[in-house]
Amino acid sequence: MAATPEKPAPASPRRKTGRHRGEGQWAVGHFTPLNGNEQFKKDDDGLNVRTRIETIYSKRGFDSIDPNDLRGRMRWWGLYTQRKPGIDGGKTAILEPEELDDKYFMLRVRIDGGRLTTEQLRVIGEISQEFARGTADITDRQNVQYHWIRIEDVPEIWNRLEAVGLSTTEACGDTPRVILGSPVAGIAADEIIDGTPAIDEIQRRFIGNPDFSNLPRKFKSAVSGSPQLDVAHEINDIAFVGVDHPEHGPGFDLWVGGGLSTNPKLGQRLGAWVPLDEVPDVYGGVIGIFRDYGYRRLRTRARLKFLLADWGAEKFRQILEDEYLKRPLIDGPAPEQPVGTWRDHLGVHRQKDGRFYVGFAPRVGRVDGTTLTKIAEVAEAHGSGRLRTTAEQKMIVLDIEQDQVDSLVSALEALDLKVTPSPFRRGTMACTGIEFCKLAIVETKARGASLIDELERRIPEFDHPITININGCPNACARIQVADIGLKGQLVLNDQGEQVEGFQVHLGGALGLDAGFGRKVRGLKVTSEELPDYVERVLTKFQEEREEGER
Ligand code: SF4
Repeated sequence: MAATPEKPAPASPRRKTGRHRGEGQWAVGHFTPLNGNEQFKKDDDGLNVRTRIETIYSKRGFDSIDPNDLRGRMRWWGLYTQRKPGIDGGKTAILEPEELDDKYFMLRVRIDGGRLTTEQLRVIGEISQEFARGTADITDRQNVQYHWIRIEDVPEIWNRLEAVGLSTTEACGDTPRVILGSPVAGIAADEIIDGTPAIDEIQRRFIGNPDFSNLPRKFKSAVSGSPQLDVAHEINDIAFVGVDHPEHGPGFDLWVGGGLSTNPKLGQRLGAWVPLDEVPDVYGGVIGIFRDYGYRRLRTRARLKFLLADWGAEKFRQILEDEYLKRPLIDGPAPEQPVGTWRDHLGVHRQKDGRFYVGFAPRVGRVDGTTLTKIAEVAEAHGSGRLRTTAEQKMIVLDIEQDQVDSLVSALEALDLKVTPSPFRRGTMACTGIEFCKLAIVETKARGASLIDELERRIPEFDHPITININGCPNACARIQVADIGLKGQLVLNDQGEQVEGFQVHLGGALGLDAGFGRKVRGLKVTSEELPDYVERVLTKFQEEREEGER
């Protein structure tokens, strides 16, 4: 059974952990908040801010919002203030948070498993047009993100989302965030196991549950039974990856402790096989360990990966079994290397029921409300009522009869949504960047879109799988460390010695069973203006000199 105490209680109150006694771990009796974030979470549960938004802030306006709600608890409902337009990246680290705040919000809609009906997508598109100035980005965590949201409109947006079974609950904050799921769960012909029932049960038990709404930091999770390893499982706090156990059959291999940003770490296998119906219990045990033993003193050490690094996989599994599950886990095999190189499910593929799914690519996840509404219409006109978002900022239409495939592909391409995109459109991702993000130093979305167009024009013959991930700051929202070419936004000097927008380059990162972090190329920084020239040079040289099978 998962540990679900009434209020956070130490699993073993007298346990001593040597040099980590001062890390703010609840399980060793450290309940005194050691920083401002821990204090505001102790003062009031982030989930409670919803009532104040509905009854006070949405009626009295932005200026009535308590600062601890504005820059803290509102995240528990997917709301962040967005960056005031016109503030350049050089001021990001200098200005106070309130000087960077616009009076509008980013609002994230969680889409667990990336599953959407056409009705839900239409509502998302309508909300974008009516309340978000047409903005709607598909994120690399299968969510949809709006901008320009006014606090006055938030209750109505919630009403509309919740009427079709969507929510923004714990879409941000120190909470169990969206659960990634294979975008082809339940339909792919090569599927090992469908993880959908586990995602639904995790959602039911743990999301919006006050027992788990005050975690040391965010908790990212993923469940996929696809042999394509299609949910970036290596960089989640917990991941369940489909495997076939020689004795017990299909189930999941358990990974914990992945995470990027500063001090990136790949998740580690605990060597345990978990059957489908026990996935929620194991999720509950791991999130319980994180809540009780996770480090709360420093925000920079508060992710699960730091606890795992100190304990090691063996001790982590032991505590999970002894204190939380109260039973041993079954040993199990590792996942196998996927056959294909792309994980995004783009193109046309036959489903196990004989129908087809069609994956398509906008540029760097950027769409808009009108386009989303049209996608819903196009899908329905071709007999589909279901879509999926992917962890690569792409989308998929499901359940298409064979005689409808060509017409659907043409309709999507007419919306500039490519079913057979260039490797550049297919493999480029970008985070939110300076357009809306208060932490950003450089522009990313428009830069990524123009880079795609430039590379398609300059090296149209390039045909290798390639990932180009663009971040607007040293954080890792677009996973730069695990891209072939990772670009970390920062200010750099141009030829005239002036500070301009640019990127630190990381080369050679990867996900998959040979996952690893790209190497920071010492001293290699490019200005944003030089970026297409630089990437063209790298790719042309790679194409000329690569050996068979070389990434
Ligand atoms: Fe913002 Fe930085 Fe994340 Fe990009 S990587 S969305 S700039 S915090």
